Amino acid sequence: MFNTIIIGAGYAGLVLAERLASQQNQKVLVIEQRQHIGGNAYDRFDEYGVLIHEYGPHIFHTRSKEVWHYLSQFTEWYYYEHRVLTKIDGKEVPIPFNLNTINEVFPKEMAERIQQKLVSLLGYNVRVPILKLREQGDEDLKFLADYVYDKIFLNYTLKQWGIGPEELDPTVTGRVPLYISRDDRYFQDKYQGLPKFGYTEMFKKMLDHPNIHLMLNTKFQDVMTISESGHMLFGQTFEGHIIYTGSIDELFDYTYGELPYRSLRFEYDTFNVEYKQTVGQLNSPNGYDFTRITEFKHLTGQMHSKTTLAREYPEEYVRGENTPYYPIITEENQEKYKQYKKLADSLTNVHLVGRLAEYKYYDMDAVVAAALKLYNKLK
Ligand code: FAD
Ligand code: UDP
Repeated sequence: MFNTIIIGAGYAGLVLAERLASQQNQKVLVIEQRQHIGGNAYDRFDEYGVLIHEYGPHIFHTRSKEVWHYLSQFTEWYYYEHRVLTKIDGKEVPIPFNLNTINEVFPKEMAERIQQKLVSLLGYNVRVPILKLREQGDEDLKFLADYVYDKIFLNYTLKQWGIGPEELDPTVTGRVPLYISRDDRYFQDKYQGLPKFGYTEMFKKMLDHPNIHLMLNTKFQDVMTISESGHMLFGQTFEGHIIYTGSIDELFDYTYGELPYRSLRFEYDTFNVEYKQTVGQLNSPNGYDFTRITEFKHLTGQMHSKTTLAREYPEEYVRGENTPYYPIITEENQEKYKQYKKLADSLTNVHLVGRLAEYKYYDMDAVVAAALKLYNKLK
């Protein structure tokens, strides 16, 4: 009856369901363990009527015209550009650390000297990962690198990951480089914005097709089996394609042990004022146990007399107790992932895509791109 089964109704699963159903006229079954679609990008109105992101703040940004135009079929946009402040010695300054930040934290003469050196040695409009900046020979730049590392990266990273910046793959801290520019935005991508009526509304539109059948509240293991010797759905052999977007280690029942993830706990507060913060996100590298506070109305553009904010407390992931939010990208974990990947490659007609299935620190746009790529391969 079904041509394709999709496990997981996050970005990866929804893009593929939409494409296969609408473009290939395939009958698609989407199986989702949660009671809602959207995966970690799910949003909803809280009890005060403020639109919040249930699994952490999500800001859409991409350089990919293809991804932007693809999603634009299902939503209009609220053209939001993310701005983040961080507290250095009690003062709120913009990050990524940029030329404006330098002016705010250093005495005038010193700030000018450092700025000149940055521009002459590294260039203008250049993004320099902090771990790269630390390799600079120049005394002033070495001082700057140590300063930014100590004030912004070290303790935030220890909180967020439970390990230091040097133990993580450099691409992780490289996401927030020093930016030699006066541009205060968190992202410089050409396309930035949030779905005008929320992520969940956009996802609903993607699924709105008679060929798509959605089963919520269902772990795939309860209705099907996937194995080298063949796949079963509702006790019958299934010979179509299976797209799997859950954790790769779970698919193989943790044969090689668990892949480590980092989790988060969110604490929400609602206030009887229109806005609490001047920007959407306030990072707290050195104080408190939380990493950041997000005020959703800045992101969503919602007009409301109240405002809701979320504090994020990183915590260890414990299977069955909390959510696997972030793959922890270290050399050791990548090796374990590769073992699982070999197993996945040996399965017939099973395709793994997405943040959990590929154990990749994917942003939303990268997941959409990966799903579209898989669709092009399958069609
Ligand atoms: P998911 O969204 O995780 O979807 C997988 C789905 O599979 C889930 O719904 C899950 O319940 C389901 N599933 C898993 N196992 C099973 C099973 N056994 N049976 C049935 N169903 C199952 N990206 C950005 O671009 N910008 C941001 O600002 C941003 N902020 C983020 C903040 C946080 C705190 C987090 C955690 C992520 C953030 N991301 C952001 C990344 C973004 O969430 C992901 O790129 C994207 O949601 C991944 O989509 P996915 O489909 O791969 O996975
Ligand atoms: N980071 C940091 N201090 C900050 C912001 C980021 O140390 O103020 C580091 C930290 O290791 C973090 C990584 O850079 O996990 C990536 O940050 P990003 O804001 O991209 O994280 P995400 O939004 O994915 O949680």
